Amino acid sequence: MDKIQLKKSKSDLAINGGAPAFQQPLHVGRPNMGDKAAFMRYVDQIFDNRWLSNNGPLVQELEQRIANYHQVKHCVAMCNGTIALEIAIRALELTGEVILPSYTFIATAHALHWQEITPVFADIDPVTHCLDPEAVRKMITPKTTGIIGVHLWGHAAPVNDLQAVADEYGLQLLFDAAHAFGCSYQGQMIGNFGRCEVLSFHATKFFNTFEGGAVLTNDDELAEKMRLMRNFGFAGMDNVIHPGTNGKMTEICAAMGLVNLDNLGVVLEANRRNYLAYQQEFADLPVRLFAFDERERKNYQYVVMEVGEVCPVSRDEIVKALHAENVLARRYFWPGCHNMKPFKELFPHAGLLLQNTQLVADRVIVLPTGNAMTVESVRLVCNIISLNLESA
Ligand SMILES: *Cc1c(COP(=O)(O)O)cnc(C)c1O
Repeated sequence: MDKIQLKKSKSDLAINGGAPAFQQPLHVGRPNMGDKAAFMRYVDQIFDNRWLSNNGPLVQELEQRIANYHQVKHCVAMCNGTIALEIAIRALELTGEVILPSYTFIATAHALHWQEITPVFADIDPVTHCLDPEAVRKMITPKTTGIIGVHLWGHAAPVNDLQAVADEYGLQLLFDAAHAFGCSYQGQMIGNFGRCEVLSFHATKFFNTFEGGAVLTNDDELAEKMRLMRNFGFAGMDNVIHPGTNGKMTEICAAMGLVNLDNLGVVLEANRRNYLAYQQEFADLPVRLFAFDERERKNYQYVVMEVGEVCPVSRDEIVKALHAENVLARRYFWPGCHNMKPFKELFPHAGLLLQNTQLVADRVIVLPTGNAMTVESVRLVCNIISLNLESA
């Protein structure tokens, strides 16, 4: 990459007619990819074995390695994170109402709705962006059967406090850990909390298998049940012993996973380097960078800035200015699940109890990271943000 030239004044900004800072667009959630040659060797192996799906050897190896990585007993691989959520919800026999944050990817809410369960949105903590246990408490009714905590940005939801609420009311607790591959809570790896935790291996995630997902749990019976459910309830040929669906992961997806597992260190190192560079640059800016607890393991896959009221320019103006420079920063989870279909029509007044959710959804910008980005390019992104924040 060429030596990067910082912009000197507002008139150099692309939005004011200057040249875009980057020739190639910088994407949020650009796929992290391991070694292509290693992947092709797995492809040869798959062709030689003629074993394409149905709990093949590569899926089994991947499950073992992911379980070991998270120091958890079971990893049940699935075709994607949403089906993994649905299977987990079914396996836990949730019914009636389940409490979850509105500030999450729409799949968390859809997975419940698709199972004819009413998603009940509870507010979040404006600092951690995760469920507020006191807000959860307020939403409990006689119909409530469970709570889904979301480890947003890889920052763990308040596990202990949510577990205390769940225990007090006899509710099931599970986690949407789609962002939290390789992350920890109080020193213990994600996957060990609640009844189970659901990962997504979608292309944009820290770790991907093209499409994929898994449920992590220490519960033998629950794991066995989910293994049946992901394969139509088959227990051996001709013998269906459980209701089920098709949630199976293919061998080609598992191959991608194995290659990407070997590359995890490289991605983590790049994400961490970029995050630290962002942190350094943000020290001088009147905007907040979402801070991770230094004592925990994290994947730094999401670089999250918050544009507060003190800013002279709005969040959306900053996003527009960044896009003009080819920095494809994104608003995330805006405007919140409760403002999207079908939930907007089903619960038109949900927003009244979701003030922190609305606040955060209006403030967040997710910035690009990953191993295509250098520290120099991070500086230039921050330079653009800084110039935009200068008062007119
Ligand atoms: C990505 C994601 C999902 C869905 O996972 P898929 O593998 O895309 O189905 C669910 N919840 C959250 C928070 C996510 O980010």
